[in-house]
Amino acid sequence: KGIVHRICAGQVITDLSSAVKELVENSLDASSTTLEINLKNYGQHSIQVIDNGTGISPSNFKVLALKHHTSKLGTFHDLQSLTTYGFRGEALSSLCAMADLTIETKTKNEVVGTQLTFDHSGVLIAQSKIARQVGTTVTVKNLFSNLPVRSKEFSRNIRREYGKLVSLLNAYALIATNVRFVCTNTTGKNARSVVLKTQGSASLKDNIITVLGINTFRCLEPVTLSLSDSCKVDGFLSKSGQGNGRSLGDRQYFFVNGRPVDMPKVSKVVNEIYKGANSKQYPIAILNFTVPTRAYDVNVTPDKRKIFISEESAILQALREGLQQIYSASGV
Ligand code: ADP
Ligand code: MG
Repeated sequence: KGIVHRICAGQVITDLSSAVKELVENSLDASSTTLEINLKNYGQHSIQVIDNGTGISPSNFKVLALKHHTSKLGTFHDLQSLTTYGFRGEALSSLCAMADLTIETKTKNEVVGTQLTFDHSGVLIAQSKIARQVGTTVTVKNLFSNLPVRSKEFSRNIRREYGKLVSLLNAYALIATNVRFVCTNTTGKNARSVVLKTQGSASLKDNIITVLGINTFRCLEPVTLSLSDSCKVDGFLSKSGQGNGRSLGDRQYFFVNGRPVDMPKVSKVVNEIYKGANSKQYPIAILNFTVPTRAYDVNVTPDKRKIFISEESAILQALREGLQQIYSASGV
Protein backbone atom coordinates (compact mmCIF):
# COMPACT_ATOMS: atom_id res chain seq x y z
CA LYS A 1 0.00 0.00 0.00
CA GLY A 2 2.84 2.36 0.88
CA ILE A 3 4.41 1.84 -2.52
CA VAL A 4 1.20 2.46 -4.44
CA HIS A 5 0.73 5.64 -2.47
CA ARG A 6 4.24 6.76 -3.30
CA ILE A 7 3.82 6.07 -7.00
CA CYS A 8 0.58 8.05 -7.16
CA ALA A 9 2.04 10.85 -5.07
CA GLY A 10 4.91 11.06 -7.49
CA GLN A 11 2.56 12.24 -10.19
CA VAL A 12 1.22 15.23 -8.27
CA ILE A 13 4.58 16.33 -6.91
CA THR A 14 6.95 15.74 -9.78
CA ASP A 15 9.55 18.39 -9.09
CA LEU A 16 10.44 21.40 -6.99
CA SER A 17 8.03 23.76 -8.68
CA SER A 18 5.04 21.43 -8.43
CA ALA A 19 5.69 21.12 -4.68
CA VAL A 20 5.83 24.87 -4.18
CA LYS A 21 2.91 25.42 -6.55
CA GLU A 22 0.62 23.27 -4.38
CA LEU A 23 1.62 25.13 -1.22
CA VAL A 24 1.18 28.56 -2.80
CA GLU A 25 -2.23 27.57 -4.18
CA ASN A 26 -3.33 26.33 -0.76
CA SER A 27 -2.33 29.67 0.74
CA LEU A 28 -4.19 31.59 -1.95
CA ASP A 29 -7.24 29.34 -1.51
CA ALA A 30 -7.16 30.27 2.20
CA SER A 31 -7.58 33.97 1.27
CA SER A 32 -4.06 34.97 2.29
CA THR A 33 -2.87 38.47 1.51
CA THR A 34 0.78 37.83 2.42
CA LEU A 35 2.84 34.87 1.30
CA GLU A 36 6.42 34.28 2.29
CA ILE A 37 8.30 31.48 0.57
CA ASN A 38 11.65 30.64 2.14
CA LEU A 39 13.94 28.11 0.50
CA LYS A 40 17.09 26.57 1.89
CA ASN A 41 19.58 25.41 -0.68
CA TYR A 42 17.17 26.05 -3.58
CA GLY A 43 14.48 24.05 -1.83
CA GLN A 44 16.56 20.92 -1.57
CA HIS A 45 17.07 21.25 2.15
CA SER A 46 13.72 22.85 2.94
CA ILE A 47 10.77 24.79 1.58
CA GLN A 48 8.67 26.88 3.90
CA VAL A 49 5.52 28.75 2.96
CA ILE A 50 4.14 31.17 5.55
CA ASP A 51 0.72 32.72 5.01
CA ASN A 52 -1.76 34.93 6.84
CA GLY A 53 -4.82 33.09 5.56
CA THR A 54 -7.73 31.55 7.44
CA GLY A 55 -5.68 28.87 9.16
CA ILE A 56 -6.82 25.28 9.63
CA SER A 57 -9.44 24.40 12.19
CA PRO A 58 -8.64 21.69 14.77
CA SER A 59 -11.40 19.43 13.44
CA ASN A 60 -9.32 19.02 10.28
CA PHE A 61 -5.94 18.25 11.88
CA LYS A 62 -6.20 14.45 11.80
CA VAL A 63 -7.47 14.11 8.26
CA LEU A 64 -5.54 16.97 6.68
CA ALA A 65 -2.81 14.99 5.00
CA LEU A 66 -4.79 11.85 4.27
CA LYS A 67 -5.34 11.07 0.64
CA HIS A 68 -8.38 12.74 -0.89
CA HIS A 69 -9.12 14.86 2.11
CA THR A 70 -10.21 18.28 0.89
CA SER A 71 -12.31 20.96 2.51
CA LYS A 72 -12.99 22.60 -0.82
CA LEU A 73 -15.47 20.37 -2.57
CA GLY A 74 -18.99 20.20 -1.19
CA THR A 75 -20.92 18.38 -3.86
CA PHE A 76 -20.11 16.95 -7.27
CA HIS A 77 -21.79 19.96 -8.77
CA ASP A 78 -18.95 22.10 -7.37
CA LEU A 79 -16.46 20.53 -9.73
CA GLN A 80 -18.22 22.26 -12.61
CA SER A 81 -18.10 25.69 -11.06
CA LEU A 82 -14.86 25.47 -9.18
CA THR A 83 -13.19 28.67 -8.08
CA THR A 84 -10.45 27.35 -5.80
CA TYR A 85 -7.11 26.08 -7.10
CA GLY A 86 -7.30 22.88 -5.11
CA PHE A 87 -10.09 20.34 -4.99
CA ARG A 88 -8.60 16.87 -4.98
CA GLY A 89 -6.99 16.70 -1.58
CA GLU A 90 -3.82 15.15 -2.94
CA ALA A 91 -1.11 17.72 -2.38
CA LEU A 92 -0.47 17.42 1.33
CA SER A 93 -0.76 13.65 1.24
CA SER A 94 1.69 13.51 -1.69
CA LEU A 95 4.12 15.84 0.04
CA CYS A 96 4.03 13.65 3.14
CA ALA A 97 4.90 10.65 1.03
CA MET A 98 8.04 12.24 -0.36
CA ALA A 99 9.24 14.63 2.31
CA ASP A 100 9.09 15.49 6.02
CA LEU A 101 6.05 17.68 6.58
CA THR A 102 5.20 19.94 9.50
CA ILE A 103 2.39 22.47 9.67
CA GLU A 104 1.86 25.33 12.07
CA THR A 105 -1.52 26.96 12.04
CA LYS A 106 -4.02 29.09 13.90
CA THR A 107 -7.51 30.27 13.02
CA LYS A 108 -9.12 33.38 14.43
CA ASN A 109 -11.17 31.18 16.78
CA GLU A 110 -8.16 29.71 18.58
CA VAL A 111 -6.20 31.39 21.33
CA VAL A 112 -2.95 29.57 20.58
CA GLY A 113 -1.53 27.97 17.46
CA THR A 114 -0.73 24.33 16.89
CA GLN A 115 2.24 22.57 15.36
CA LEU A 116 1.47 19.32 13.54
CA THR A 117 3.88 16.65 12.38
CA PHE A 118 2.92 13.95 9.89
CA ASP A 119 4.50 10.66 8.91
CA HIS A 120 5.08 9.47 5.35
CA SER A 121 1.59 8.04 5.04
CA GLY A 122 -0.06 11.30 6.10
CA VAL A 123 -0.90 10.20 9.64
CA LEU A 124 -0.69 12.90 12.30
CA ILE A 125 2.04 11.75 14.71
CA ALA A 126 2.68 14.76 16.94
CA GLN A 127 0.79 17.85 18.00
CA SER A 128 1.89 20.69 20.26
CA LYS A 129 0.87 24.23 21.14
CA ILE A 130 2.85 27.15 19.76
CA ALA A 131 2.51 30.91 19.63
CA ARG A 132 1.67 32.34 16.23
CA GLN A 133 -0.52 34.73 14.29
CA VAL A 134 -3.60 33.63 12.38
CA GLY A 135 -2.49 31.76 9.28
CA THR A 136 -0.53 28.69 8.29
CA THR A 137 3.12 27.75 7.86
CA VAL A 138 3.93 24.60 5.94
CA THR A 139 7.48 23.29 6.10
CA VAL A 140 8.70 20.62 3.71
CA LYS A 141 12.11 19.15 4.44
CA ASN A 142 14.21 16.69 2.47
CA LEU A 143 11.99 16.63 -0.60
CA PHE A 144 12.41 13.35 -2.56
CA SER A 145 15.03 12.07 -0.10
CA ASN A 146 13.21 8.74 0.16
CA LEU A 147 13.15 8.33 -3.64
CA PRO A 148 16.84 7.81 -4.55
CA VAL A 149 16.45 8.18 -8.30
CA ARG A 150 14.38 11.31 -8.18
CA SER A 151 16.52 12.75 -5.44
CA LYS A 152 19.64 12.35 -7.59
CA GLU A 153 17.84 13.88 -10.55
CA PHE A 154 16.73 16.77 -8.34
CA SER A 155 20.32 17.50 -7.26
CA ARG A 156 21.62 17.28 -10.79
CA ASN A 157 19.06 19.70 -12.20
CA ILE A 158 18.80 21.98 -9.21
CA ARG A 159 19.55 25.22 -11.07
CA ARG A 160 17.03 24.48 -13.80
CA GLU A 161 14.40 23.40 -11.28
CA TYR A 162 15.01 26.59 -9.36
CA GLY A 163 14.68 28.70 -12.51
CA LYS A 164 11.37 27.04 -13.28
CA LEU A 165 10.20 27.71 -9.74
CA VAL A 166 11.10 31.40 -9.88
CA SER A 167 9.21 31.77 -13.12
CA LEU A 168 6.17 30.04 -11.60
CA LEU A 169 6.26 32.32 -8.55
CA ASN A 170 6.43 35.28 -10.92
CA ALA A 171 3.28 33.97 -12.59
CA TYR A 172 1.35 33.92 -9.29
CA ALA A 173 2.76 37.31 -8.29
CA LEU A 174 1.55 38.72 -11.61
CA ILE A 175 -1.96 37.33 -11.55
CA ALA A 176 -2.83 37.49 -7.84
CA THR A 177 -3.93 41.02 -7.01
CA ASN A 178 -3.70 42.39 -3.48
CA VAL A 179 -1.35 39.61 -2.38
CA ARG A 180 2.18 40.42 -1.27
CA PHE A 181 4.84 37.87 -2.18
CA VAL A 182 8.30 37.51 -0.71
CA CYS A 183 10.56 34.68 -1.78
CA THR A 184 14.02 34.09 -0.38
CA ASN A 185 16.72 31.50 -0.83
CA THR A 186 19.58 30.70 1.56
CA THR A 187 22.54 28.64 0.45
CA GLY A 188 25.51 27.39 2.47
CA LYS A 189 27.18 30.19 4.36
CA ASN A 190 25.64 32.86 2.15
CA ALA A 191 23.11 35.29 3.50
CA ARG A 192 19.47 35.05 2.52
CA SER A 193 18.90 36.44 -0.93
CA VAL A 194 15.57 37.92 -1.89
CA VAL A 195 14.34 36.33 -5.09
CA LEU A 196 11.03 38.14 -5.38
CA LYS A 197 9.31 40.87 -3.43
CA THR A 198 6.04 42.53 -4.36
CA GLN A 199 3.69 45.04 -2.76
CA GLY A 200 0.47 43.27 -3.63
CA SER A 201 -0.91 45.77 -6.11
CA ALA A 202 -4.56 45.93 -7.04
CA SER A 203 -4.07 45.57 -10.81
CA LEU A 204 -2.27 43.36 -13.29
CA LYS A 205 -0.60 46.47 -14.68
CA ASP A 206 0.97 47.38 -11.34
CA ASN A 207 1.94 43.78 -10.69
CA ILE A 208 3.77 43.73 -14.03
CA ILE A 209 5.65 46.87 -13.06
CA THR A 210 6.81 45.32 -9.75
CA VAL A 211 7.55 41.84 -11.05
CA LEU A 212 9.01 42.56 -14.50
CA GLY A 213 10.06 46.20 -14.07
CA ILE A 214 8.93 49.54 -15.45
CA ASN A 215 11.19 49.32 -18.50
CA THR A 216 9.62 46.05 -19.53
CA PHE A 217 6.17 47.46 -18.89
CA ARG A 218 6.88 50.37 -21.25
CA CYS A 219 7.48 47.89 -24.07
CA LEU A 220 4.04 46.33 -23.61
CA GLU A 221 0.63 47.22 -24.82
CA PRO A 222 -2.71 46.16 -23.39
CA VAL A 223 -4.67 43.52 -25.27
CA THR A 224 -8.34 42.70 -24.91
CA LEU A 225 -9.98 40.37 -27.39
CA SER A 226 -13.28 38.63 -27.49
CA LEU A 227 -12.61 35.13 -28.82
CA SER A 228 -16.08 33.64 -28.82
CA ASP A 229 -19.48 34.23 -27.22
CA SER A 230 -18.16 33.18 -23.86
CA CYS A 231 -14.37 33.38 -24.07
CA LYS A 232 -12.12 36.42 -23.95
CA VAL A 233 -8.49 37.21 -23.37
CA ASP A 234 -6.98 40.17 -21.51
CA GLY A 235 -3.45 41.11 -20.79
CA PHE A 236 -0.31 42.64 -22.21
CA LEU A 237 1.92 41.90 -25.17
CA SER A 238 5.17 43.36 -26.51
CA LYS A 239 4.59 46.30 -28.81
CA SER A 240 5.76 45.86 -32.37
CA GLY A 241 9.53 45.77 -32.52
CA GLN A 242 9.86 45.90 -28.73
CA GLY A 243 9.96 42.23 -27.91
CA ASN A 244 12.71 41.40 -25.51
CA GLY A 245 11.97 37.87 -24.63
CA ARG A 246 15.47 36.43 -24.68
CA SER A 247 14.44 33.05 -25.95
CA LEU A 248 11.40 31.05 -26.89
CA GLY A 249 8.90 31.16 -24.03
CA ASP A 250 10.95 33.58 -21.93
CA ARG A 251 8.62 35.83 -19.96
CA GLN A 252 5.46 34.43 -21.46
CA TYR A 253 2.81 33.88 -18.81
CA PHE A 254 -0.50 32.30 -19.67
CA PHE A 255 -3.49 31.91 -17.38
CA VAL A 256 -6.95 30.43 -17.65
CA ASN A 257 -9.34 32.10 -15.23
CA GLY A 258 -6.35 33.24 -13.21
CA ARG A 259 -4.74 29.80 -13.07
CA PRO A 260 -1.17 29.67 -14.39
CA VAL A 261 -1.03 27.05 -17.14
CA ASP A 262 1.20 25.82 -19.92
CA MET A 263 -0.28 26.81 -23.28
CA PRO A 264 2.21 25.77 -25.97
CA LYS A 265 -0.32 26.26 -28.77
CA VAL A 266 -1.14 29.79 -27.65
CA SER A 267 2.56 30.55 -27.31
CA LYS A 268 3.09 29.32 -30.85
CA VAL A 269 0.35 31.59 -32.24
CA VAL A 270 1.68 34.60 -30.35
CA ASN A 271 5.26 34.00 -31.52
CA GLU A 272 4.25 33.41 -35.12
CA ILE A 273 2.16 36.56 -35.43
CA TYR A 274 4.73 38.64 -33.65
CA LYS A 275 7.71 37.33 -35.60
CA GLY A 276 5.84 37.69 -38.87
CA ALA A 277 6.03 41.41 -38.24
CA ASN A 278 9.14 41.74 -36.15
CA SER A 279 12.33 40.02 -37.29
CA LYS A 280 14.05 37.78 -34.77
CA GLN A 281 12.66 38.88 -31.43
CA TYR A 282 10.29 37.07 -29.14
CA PRO A 283 7.36 38.86 -27.56
CA ILE A 284 6.73 39.08 -23.86
CA ALA A 285 3.17 37.98 -23.15
CA ILE A 286 0.98 38.05 -20.08
CA LEU A 287 -2.41 36.75 -21.16
CA ASN A 288 -5.36 35.65 -19.07
CA PHE A 289 -8.11 33.70 -20.82
CA THR A 290 -11.55 33.96 -19.30
CA VAL A 291 -13.46 30.80 -20.06
CA PRO A 292 -16.73 29.56 -18.51
CA THR A 293 -15.77 27.00 -15.88
CA ARG A 294 -17.72 24.27 -17.62
CA ALA A 295 -15.78 24.84 -20.86
CA TYR A 296 -12.43 23.74 -19.53
CA ASP A 297 -10.98 20.87 -17.63
CA VAL A 298 -7.99 21.16 -15.32
CA ASN A 299 -8.29 17.52 -14.45
CA VAL A 300 -6.22 16.35 -17.41
CA THR A 301 -2.91 15.98 -15.57
CA PRO A 302 -2.40 15.61 -11.82
CA ASP A 303 -0.38 18.82 -11.54
CA LYS A 304 -3.20 20.79 -13.21
CA ARG A 305 -0.70 22.64 -15.42
CA LYS A 306 -2.16 21.29 -18.63
CA ILE A 307 -5.76 21.98 -19.35
CA PHE A 308 -8.28 21.14 -21.97
CA ILE A 309 -10.48 23.89 -23.37
CA SER A 310 -13.46 22.98 -25.48
CA GLU A 311 -13.50 24.53 -28.96
CA GLU A 312 -9.78 25.14 -28.64
CA SER A 313 -9.14 25.43 -32.37
CA ALA A 314 -11.84 28.08 -32.87
CA ILE A 315 -10.41 30.04 -29.96
CA LEU A 316 -6.86 29.80 -31.34
CA GLN A 317 -8.08 30.98 -34.73
CA ALA A 318 -9.88 33.97 -33.18
CA LEU A 319 -6.71 34.78 -31.24
CA ARG A 320 -4.63 34.61 -34.40
CA GLU A 321 -6.97 37.00 -36.24
CA GLY A 322 -7.23 39.38 -33.30
CA LEU A 323 -3.46 39.60 -32.86
CA GLN A 324 -2.91 40.03 -36.58
CA GLN A 325 -5.17 43.06 -36.45
CA ILE A 326 -3.40 44.52 -33.44
CA TYR A 327 0.03 44.20 -35.03
CA SER A 328 -1.04 45.52 -38.43
CA ALA A 329 -2.87 48.46 -36.81
CA SER A 330 0.31 49.44 -34.94
CA GLY A 331 1.84 50.18 -38.30
CA VAL A 332 4.33 47.47 -39.22
P1 ADP B 1 -6.88 20.54 -1.74
O1 ADP B 1 -6.15 21.85 -1.89
O2 ADP B 1 -7.12 19.87 -3.06
O3 ADP B 1 -8.14 20.66 -0.89
P2 ADP B 1 -4.54 19.71 -0.23
O4 ADP B 1 -3.97 18.37 0.02
O5 ADP B 1 -3.71 20.69 -0.98
O6 ADP B 1 -5.94 19.51 -0.95
O7 ADP B 1 -4.94 20.35 1.18
C1 ADP B 1 -5.81 19.64 2.03
C2 ADP B 1 -6.61 20.59 2.91
O8 ADP B 1 -5.73 21.22 3.85
C3 ADP B 1 -7.28 21.74 2.18
O9 ADP B 1 -8.53 21.36 1.65
C4 ADP B 1 -7.40 22.79 3.27
O10 ADP B 1 -8.55 22.57 4.05
C5 ADP B 1 -6.19 22.53 4.16
N1 ADP B 1 -5.06 23.45 3.89
C6 ADP B 1 -3.89 23.16 3.27
N2 ADP B 1 -3.07 24.22 3.23
C7 ADP B 1 -3.73 25.23 3.85
C8 ADP B 1 -3.41 26.62 4.14
N3 ADP B 1 -2.24 27.16 3.77
N4 ADP B 1 -4.34 27.35 4.80
C9 ADP B 1 -5.53 26.81 5.18
N5 ADP B 1 -5.88 25.52 4.94
C10 ADP B 1 -5.01 24.73 4.29
MG1 MG C 1 -4.24 22.11 -2.48
